[in-house]
Amino acid sequence: MTTLAPGTWDRQAACRDWSRFMDLPADERNPTLIQAAKAICDDCPVLDHCREWVLALAPRDDPGGICGGLTEPERAARRKVTVAADVPDGHKWCRRCLDVKPLEAFYRDRKNADGRNSFCKACNSRIKTARYHATKGAAK
Ligand code: SF4
Ligand SMILES: [Zn+2]
Repeated sequence: MTTLAPGTWDRQAACRDWSRFMDLPADERNPTLIQAAKAICDDCPVLDHCREWVLALAPRDDPGGICGGLTEPERAARRKVTVAADVPDGHKWCRRCLDVKPLEAFYRDRKNADGRNSFCKACNSRIKTARYHATKGAAK
């Protein structure tokens, strides 16, 4: 990953020790590495700040690679979606894949006001797999 916005939040960035994961091409040529990098973002204490910052950038200023838990194409797509996207009753917007899905597609999570996890079940499963591969790679 390249530059984080100035401020105090970037000092807590989980990617500081994992910059090789963040310095990925914008395309999805290496899905395993991309998922491993996203798993680091998922555990990052400043994910919300980072994503907010990077999505507010003009496309030409995008740092590339994985940032804010998203690939560059995902950020480009996300910038086109208004935050006030129509989310019908009984549905929720997955913070990871950005899809609007029925509430049942999210695990229960008492930490969130709506009682559901921020990521959909499919994304949680992908995160679990990516963490497994990341741990396996780190152990080598
Ligand atoms: S969300 Fe990801 S890219 Fe952003 S600071 Fe955290 S680890 Fe780095
Ligand atoms: Zn999802």
